Order: sequence, then structure tokens, then C-alpha cells
Amino acid sequence: MSDPLLSVENLKTQFFTEAGTVRAVDGISFEVYEGEIVGLVGESGAGKSVASMSLLRLVESPGEIVAGEITYKGETIFGLEEGPDGELRERSEMLSNEEIRTRIRGNEIAVIFQDPMESLNPVFTVGGQLREFIELNRDLPEDEARAEAIDMLREVGIPDPEERYEEYPHQFSGGMRQRVLIAMALACEPSLIIADEPTTALDVTVEGQIIDLVDELQAKYGTSFIWVTHDMGVVAEICDRVNVMYLGEIVEQSPVDELFYETKHPYTEALLESIPRPDRTVGELDPIEGVMPEAINPPSGCRFHPRCPDAKEVCQRVHPDNRVVDRADGHPHRAACVKHDAFDVGYDGSRPLDNLADTGDESDDQLTARTNGGGDDGE
Ligand code: SF4
Repeated sequence: MSDPLLSVENLKTQFFTEAGTVRAVDGISFEVYEGEIVGLVGESGAGKSVASMSLLRLVESPGEIVAGEITYKGETIFGLEEGPDGELRERSEMLSNEEIRTRIRGNEIAVIFQDPMESLNPVFTVGGQLREFIELNRDLPEDEARAEAIDMLREVGIPDPEERYEEYPHQFSGGMRQRVLIAMALACEPSLIIADEPTTALDVTVEGQIIDLVDELQAKYGTSFIWVTHDMGVVAEICDRVNVMYLGEIVEQSPVDELFYETKHPYTEALLESIPRPDRTVGELDPIEGVMPEAINPPSGCRFHPRCPDAKEVCQRVHPDNRVVDRADGHPHRAACVKHDAFDVGYDGSRPLDNLADTGDESDDQLTARTNGGGDDGE
């Protein structure tokens, strides 16, 4: 297998608040290879958006990346080393803020956000904004950038692009605005696009059209994607490999088919039980029991144990790392769950916890866990 385009090792991003340290992203590792779509999936509060923003060093105070390594095409986007005084410091080869801003963001790694209105300025025409972006990032004269902008609008399926070029964002529907952002993301032909819940605000039909468009463009340009979503249906449609996040950690990581048909983590199982699936007939869907605990003070041991139907006493004590429990198509299938043989911690002989959290109110187990826990957050 070739080297990954992007490699993330033990990334930790924390927020320092008056209430305590929020470990929004707590030691995640994953790779993105050329031309693949990798999902970051989980409920709201799992840490997936903070993780994706960390990749471009877009986390703002009081947030900070405190550990880990992010490598893109062999260059260090983030990395720490121990200095002569024993203190951690940024590695000398780490890209400067200026290099990240001028050379990486937009040109190499682009972002598509959930709400296009936050990315588009309402007082300038859509075409003007796209043209200016192309002019600045590709150093083209105005007339060439204009022609390129119109081509890009056509490419993403905007009808009558010459006329729509002169219109303002409020004259576009939600789906059309999202197409404009896709055009903007693709305009500099980046190798990687981070799509942060780009279809969440759209209705199902438009969502399907955007997913088809991304599929088409991805095949044409060979762009890699990190697709951030809470929706397993979208994951099934678009992703090649998937990382499932829970309370700042990746709890399952595998190729998409394996994730759906050989699920290894009870949290992923719960996510899958809560969506309709064409391969299964059920009377009614099962929502996930309980609520995600407060991220600032997560449960002890396995963070999912207060909500896990398979939880045993050992799960309260042992904090499982994300280990290879199987392989599929040459890719490891990883899970952070002590049920698997790769964890030899006495799960089978351990006492079951009849703990399941009720929705809304905290269970005793959650309360116990909170007193023992560390800290974490979400998006
Ligand atoms: S480690 Fe225990 S609590 Fe956590 S997911 Fe596995 S069985 Fe459930």
C-alpha cells in the first residue's frame, strides 16, 4: 500500500475552560489515502468536528492541540518534541502559520462547512466571491478567474452559470449554495477536502443529489475526502473507510462494508440499529439508550459503558485502546472494546452491569463514572 496522504497520530485537542479541561479529541489516529473517502462519524458531541478542524490548525482559543502528530504529504502540519529544558515545543520542521494559510488551506486541503451562508458573504455576488477566491489562490488575472469560476459553477451543476454568476447567495436554494461551496473547494484542485456535515441542513432529495455530485467529482478529480457526519446512511452511500467516534475517541475503524456487516463495537451497533436499512426489516427502530455523558468529565474505563448493553464490571475499570480485532481487504478492523480476544482482561468471567442509562436522567453508574472520570468534549 502507498504512503497515506494524511496521517494523524495520537491527536489530542483540549479546551481550557473555567469548568475544567475539556478533552474534545483524546488520542485519535487515522490515515487518509489518495482518492478515498474516509468517514468521521458519531453523535453530536463526539469530537468529530474539532478533530477535523485540528487538521488545519483551525482550533481557536481556549482550544489547543496539545499532543500528537499530523503529517500531510510528508510535511508536518503539527508535531511536538522535547526541548533541551525537557519542555515540549513545536518541532522545527512544523509548517508555520503563514505556510499553512498560503500553501495548505484551500490549495492542498479545502473545507466545506455545514452552513453555506456562514462561508458565503451575503453582500457580494456568488460569482464574484468564487472569482476572487480563484484569483487569490491561483494567481490568475481577473478575466481568466471569471471564466474559471463560471466553468466551476457549470461543473457542479448550477444551471445558467453565466446568469447565476451575478446573483447573491440569498437568491440560491440551500442545495445550490452547497454546490457553490463544493465549486469553491474544488477550484484550486486540492488533494483533500474536509466536508463537515455538508448535507445535514438539506432535505433528503437534495442531500442525495449532493452525494451523487461528490461521488462524480471525486471519481473525476481523484480528490480524497474526510466526510464528517452523524448519519450512518450517508456513510453507507459515500465512504470507503470509516472512523466511529465517541466522546473524543475513535472506538471503531474499518472499511465501510465491514463496519456494517461485521460490526465490532456496541456503540456502532447501536448507531446502526437506530437507522433504517434496506437489508433488514424491523418493526421499529431502536434509539440509542441514554445520553452522551458530559464531555468535560467522561466515565471511567470504557467511556461507553453507562450506555452499553454488553457492559460488565471490567468495562468500568479498563479503558480500552483501539486495537486490531480483525482484518478486511488488507485493512485492519480496529475496535476499542474489551469483549474481543485481543483484550485479555477477563471480560467473559466479569459480572454483567445491569446499568443501562435512562434517557435524560443520569443513572447511578453514570454518576459513579463521572466522579472517577477525566474530561472531554465534543464538537
Ligand atoms: S468495553 Fe464493555 S462497555 Fe465498552 S463497548 Fe465493550 S462491552 Fe461495552
